[in-house]
Amino acid sequence: MTDAPSPDAPAVVLGAGYAGLRVAHEIRRRSHKEIPVVLVDRSPVHVLRTQLYEIGTIADSERTQRKFAVPLEELVRRDGITLRQGTVQSIDLDARQVDLGTERLAYRSLAVCLGNVVAFYGVPGADQHTFQVYRYSGAMQLAEAMRELEARSPEMPPGRRPRVLVIGGGSTGTEVAAEIATADWRRITRRDARPPEVILVCGALPFLAGFSAGLVRHARAMLYEAGVVLHEGANVREVQPEKVVLDTGTEFGFDVAVWAAGIQAPEFVRALPVPHGKGGRIKVNAFLQVDGRPGVFGVGDVVEFEDPETHMIVPSTAQAALAEAPVAAANLVADWFGRPLKPFQYRERGVVVALGVGRGVAKFSRVTIWGSPARLLKTLVEKEYATATEHGRKPPGL
Ligand SMILES: Cc1cc2nc3c(=O)[nH]c(=O)nc-3n(C[C@H](O)[C@H](O)[C@H](O)COP(=O)(O)OP(=O)(O)OC[C@H]3O[C@@H](n4cnc5c(N)ncnc54)[C@H](O)[C@@H]3O)c2cc1C
Repeated sequence: MTDAPSPDAPAVVLGAGYAGLRVAHEIRRRSHKEIPVVLVDRSPVHVLRTQLYEIGTIADSERTQRKFAVPLEELVRRDGITLRQGTVQSIDLDARQVDLGTERLAYRSLAVCLGNVVAFYGVPGADQHTFQVYRYSGAMQLAEAMRELEARSPEMPPGRRPRVLVIGGGSTGTEVAAEIATADWRRITRRDARPPEVILVCGALPFLAGFSAGLVRHARAMLYEAGVVLHEGANVREVQPEKVVLDTGTEFGFDVAVWAAGIQAPEFVRALPVPHGKGGRIKVNAFLQVDGRPGVFGVGDVVEFEDPETHMIVPSTAQAALAEAPVAAANLVADWFGRPLKPFQYRERGVVVALGVGRGVAKFSRVTIWGSPARLLKTLVEKEYATATEHGRKPPGL
């Protein structure tokens, strides 16, 4: 049974990604700064995660770091949000407390916005022998590995090029593969560096599953032009130090492998005594609230929201997180002051996928655009995502 909320306890927002930052700002704005907000994150920076596929740019210069991570202090200063740096170990929903290891934080209302973690689906060796771009540290490690690989490529035997395997044929894998294949490694490392050979291992799911046929067609054509080879129809069975083995027995050697095959909720979230969806995500109701847990809301990648009318599951995207956040915040404020809550309705504005340096494909309404206009759109959307978390500005168009 849940304890009665302490009237003095604040609203606690867990996670300062796209969802959490926007929820925190919106609670302050909508409550006219009456509700005290404590924002918890393990990191002192807000990571612009939608840009972490830009491995060439990350590898190019350490000065570009600010492009991908903004100090949280700068983002919350104006709104009187209290920042608490710490790693959430567990949440006690009955006692209304969050365990940060070093302290326990009491809350009156809670917004869980902790994003997700990589899922290896029990594939042996995947954890040890692959890089991932789901976190900033992972993208930095991959960029460093690529820089080293390219720097030593001229010493490889004649005819041999560095080989990069990207595992996962969704948008993340596709963007990373295209970016690595088209980055100007000669400028980034040394003039005689050999361009990498990039293979995208899509797995058993169709390439870019869930995207429109037109978008997928253009994406295939652009990957082909970028020199990315697609391997479709088989899952990875095992990753060894220098090769992957597929279910079919086919093997691919690699110099660098990237795992972009899936995500799931963090382990302690999967263990919470609440309804769960795919990958242990917290199921939230029409008000983005956790059923049976008054005052507890969930937003972004950590939750599963099923549209009650269409039964469509809202995708794990920044676009969805930023659309959910103002509604969850409004409902948290309404609940705090004993007012009725409003249901969340999701309408996808469109999608855009980067397909190598300066190129992309986008679909909105019935229109598909590709090439450099789509990439320009992607850049504009990423700018909007970045500013949407600053002071609760209007959510972006795509
Ligand atoms: C390479 C890549 C490209 C993408 N491109 C797009 C795109 O073009 N468009 C789009 O809409 N989406 C895109 N996405 C998806 C998008 O990044 C996510 O959907 C979005 O980040 C979800 O926001 P969130 O706030 O729920 O989670 P996150 O942004 O991941 O934020 C979660 C926060 O919680 C913190 N945290 C996690 N665990 C703990 C803990 N235990 N204790 C304390 N703090 C913790 C993290 O530090 C982080 O700040 C992309 C993702 C990737 C990886």
